[in-house]
Amino acid sequence: MQIIKEDVLILGGGMAGLRAAVAAAEYNKNISVGLVSKLYPLRSHSVSAEGGTSAVLSPKDNFDLHSYDTIKGSDYLADQDAVEKFVRLVPEQIYTTDHWGCPWSRNPDGTISQRDFGGLSYPRATFAADKTGFHVMQTLFSRALKYDNIHIYNEYFATSLIVENNSFNAITTINLKNSEYTVFQGKSLIFAAGGAGRLYQFSTYAHSVSGDGDAIAYRAGLPLKDLEFIQFHPTGLVPSGILITEAARSEGGYLLNNEGKRFMEKYAATKLEKAPRDIVSRAIMWEIEAGRGVKGKYGDTVYVNLDLRHMADILEEKLPMITDIAKRFNGIDPAEELIPVRPATHYTMGGIHVNNDTETPVQGIYGAGENVCISIHGANRLGSNSTNECLAFGNLAGVKAAEYAMSHSMPSLNNDKAKAEETRLWDDLMKRDGGENVAKIREDLRISMDANVGVFRTEDGINNGIRNIKALQERFKKITIGDKSKVFNLELEWALEVGFMLDLAEVIAKGAVLRKESRGGHYRKDYPERDDANFLKHTMATYSTEGPKFTYIPVTITKWKPAPRVY
Ligand SMILES: Cc1cc2nc3c(=O)[nH]c(=O)nc-3n(C[C@H](O)[C@H](O)[C@H](O)COP(=O)(O)OP(=O)(O)OC[C@H]3O[C@@H](n4cnc5c(N)ncnc54)[C@H](O)[C@@H]3O)c2cc1C
Repeated sequence: MQIIKEDVLILGGGMAGLRAAVAAAEYNKNISVGLVSKLYPLRSHSVSAEGGTSAVLSPKDNFDLHSYDTIKGSDYLADQDAVEKFVRLVPEQIYTTDHWGCPWSRNPDGTISQRDFGGLSYPRATFAADKTGFHVMQTLFSRALKYDNIHIYNEYFATSLIVENNSFNAITTINLKNSEYTVFQGKSLIFAAGGAGRLYQFSTYAHSVSGDGDAIAYRAGLPLKDLEFIQFHPTGLVPSGILITEAARSEGGYLLNNEGKRFMEKYAATKLEKAPRDIVSRAIMWEIEAGRGVKGKYGDTVYVNLDLRHMADILEEKLPMITDIAKRFNGIDPAEELIPVRPATHYTMGGIHVNNDTETPVQGIYGAGENVCISIHGANRLGSNSTNECLAFGNLAGVKAAEYAMSHSMPSLNNDKAKAEETRLWDDLMKRDGGENVAKIREDLRISMDANVGVFRTEDGINNGIRNIKALQERFKKITIGDKSKVFNLELEWALEVGFMLDLAEVIAKGAVLRKESRGGHYRKDYPERDDANFLKHTMATYSTEGPKFTYIPVTITKWKPAPRVY
């Protein structure tokens, strides 16, 4: 067992993790910051963020408007004090990254450009063409490399969290390069391990986004909040699921059914294609269910079309990446042809429960980014409200974790727990020999989640999904990891990920069956109305050996009373 000690540990090298690392390193140059990531940071999913990041930069816009849009978008499940804090923290982050060299797109007068996005009442999405994540990540990574006190541990896969007396103790990892079991001790820890989009088959997410951070925290006793709320992005490219950014519609793109007609007027009379994602995703699914979907050259997959042909003159300047994606992956030139799209899993609104200061209920453990639920997105995140969250709360978490590290000493390692995890990995997982294939279990899980806990949900469907998860958990006990090598044993990594995914799938499905209402991304055909009397509350799931235990906590309302959500 190798042991590495750092004052502040950060799990995850995406936008939230890198921002936190820089903040902690800047807070005090005598603090050592260890950033642990299963991927080289620039391969994190954040790099693929496309359309933009919302910030109040113009005198014509204001914090109340950004708050209101976010809260209405969340179907009133967001904590309004958290949202009010969030919108105030964001603008500084845009200017800071600008000063660090992020090439934000600009207006002819030199000011930072902003564009419209779904559910916004002022066009406040700041962008770097349609490669926002790529440019922000390059900026943060270059910045992180400047600090001698940031140590980046690439390709270390975290397997568990050790908590002792309700305080952070250590994280256990496998060094993927040689399979060495490595324990990271620290005074404080920041969870920044991203979302869980790949629990589903048709997804805009990188395959690495398997919810490890959520599951690791959950198994160690930290509560997960609102995990049943999964976002489906309306325009996943058929058949790959690669994202066609919302900016394509906010810049003027139309959705067409198989009659060649625009249909959004029926579902969102004012905002049309620029309505929030949950509403547009359902509209597409209703059209498909009514037989107005398109069936073309992509097998049995039914879809609708995205029409950008009338915008040919702006594609190269404003939407170069999706233009390239359509050409390369589908052989389609969006200036002349329609793009086939359907809803794809795109965001995990829930995550580890943290307060407005990014603190979890465990001393010394913080969290930021898609891994956590503050909650500012409630039941539905607005497009362009995640990358800014990573910057704003990544920064805050970095400062908080650094403050904590300054005033606490290094805890002594709980050796028994560290050894128990080592035994679980090498003597249990690696030695299982029931012949079940990890990749097949993963595929069956994803197909079942798409079918049973997707855009539309019903009691029968979700219960079917839960039965499937139970059966898959049994199969998982009988896996065989055929690859016994020590160097980049990816089959072992996938097995660990699938174990995490099965835990989370259970939390999502069981939380969804208990929530007998429709709100944001959670749409129950058998309970089509929002029910504030009974369900204006956050779901909290805590681990037990028999499965998740559920409790509920109230939603914080400041100025905006829940109202019908019409666009
Ligand atoms: C295609 C696409 C486009 C998007 N476009 C936008 C947009 O335009 N605007 C917007 O606001 N949002 C957008 N989003 C959402 C946004 O990009 C993400 O929510 C955000 O970038 C997540 O950042 P993160 O730092 O929380 O996690 P990630 O970027 O996913 O990083 C997670 C990190 O955790 C590490 N990690 C995970 N598990 C482990 C483990 N077991 N051990 C060690 N390390 C681990 C990974 O190595 C990685 O470094 C988009 C998302 C997608 C998928």
